[in-house]
Amino acid sequence: MEYLSDRVKSLAVSQTLAMAQKSRELKAKGIDIISLSIGEPDFNTPDYIKEAAKKAIDDNYSKYPPVPGYNDLREAISEKFRRENGLNYSPDQVIVSAGGKHSLINVILSIVNPGDEVIILAPYWVSYYDQVILAGGKPVIISATLENDFKIRPDQLESAITDKTRLVMFNSPSNPTGMVYTRQEMEKLARVIEKHEGVFVISDEIYEHIIFEGEHVSMASFDFIYDRVITVNGVSKGYAMTGWRIGFIGAPLWIAKACNKLQGQFTSGVCSIAQRAALAALQGTGESQKIMRDAFLRRRNLICGLLKDVKGLKVRIPQGAFYVMPDITWYLGKSDGETTINTSDELALYLLDKAQVATVGGDAFGSPECLRISYATSDDLLVEAVKRIKVALNRLS
Ligand code: PMP
Ligand code: GLU
Repeated sequence: MEYLSDRVKSLAVSQTLAMAQKSRELKAKGIDIISLSIGEPDFNTPDYIKEAAKKAIDDNYSKYPPVPGYNDLREAISEKFRRENGLNYSPDQVIVSAGGKHSLINVILSIVNPGDEVIILAPYWVSYYDQVILAGGKPVIISATLENDFKIRPDQLESAITDKTRLVMFNSPSNPTGMVYTRQEMEKLARVIEKHEGVFVISDEIYEHIIFEGEHVSMASFDFIYDRVITVNGVSKGYAMTGWRIGFIGAPLWIAKACNKLQGQFTSGVCSIAQRAALAALQGTGESQKIMRDAFLRRRNLICGLLKDVKGLKVRIPQGAFYVMPDITWYLGKSDGETTINTSDELALYLLDKAQVATVGGDAFGSPECLRISYATSDDLLVEAVKRIKVALNRLS
């Protein structure tokens, strides 16, 4: 007999991680799967960062670190926010956590009460929805489609805000669409927030370094809402450090203190060695980031060029991150004589089964008409993957 809490029962399994796990299992059985499911750079962590971690072990960074992170790391993050984002966060407004995912749940648990509404902009990153559920909040979804470049209009935001709204989840460059909001577009959204006291914004900027066109703008740089923005970032994507698990926030002091309190009971300070590695990452020259960004740009051009020629897919060219999200509506209701595709998730499973290519269905991103493809893999594999996808899709009519 199992006695699971209602809390756990209310959560969905993360579809990005589930798809990644499924491809690992199939690969272990010897099946030649090309994984375009999980969003993670295929690069190794740069050597100068690995060296810093090795040195940290030798220097005996083996004791409990301070709960909010080492002081010098918080200072380096404060300096990074100033230098790269034009944001003024003192080190005590910075909290280091076990990945951006952990930073996000800390903030949500700190300010969302059961019954509070949290506005989520679809297509959204899978975990936003379930983290809000975990906090007892009520997700309120506002949607954008490929036709409007997957971007929310200010009037949509305005009409979703009620007296129960506590938080808005904002993410640019976006996972899953790769879209980047312009300064003007963001300012209009910020003006809506400004009008509603007690409404806060999480600005998830984890893909800020992977941007091909335009500029990255931090939501907190609009000074009229600075004290209502929590900036979330981390080293996972920009420095190819997904496994090290370091994320961080810059936030109003009272929110930073709340996250510190939560961490003191949940996790304590996060892995000491990973923190030393993150410090080295932030103090680097940015050269390796540039190399990775250039590779992602080349791959974006490659995969978008190939997908354009696949019958029935509609594609918008993403300006950042390493995802592309084609609209697959044309394939819904189609069949290969054996399997009928009713949803995007079913299409993802069909492609896994028939093309041995792992993607993630759009349903978990609040965008059931789309399919997410992560192109953070080699050029050769991308070419082969699209070739296989094309053959499998051609069988559907
Ligand atoms: N936000 C977004 C939009 C992401 O795509 C990810 C990647 N998983 C995260 C946050 C969390 O990153 P991390 O791996 O540092 O937990
Ligand atoms: N952010 C990545 C993704 O969306 C990693 C997996 C996860 O943490 O959800 O695929």
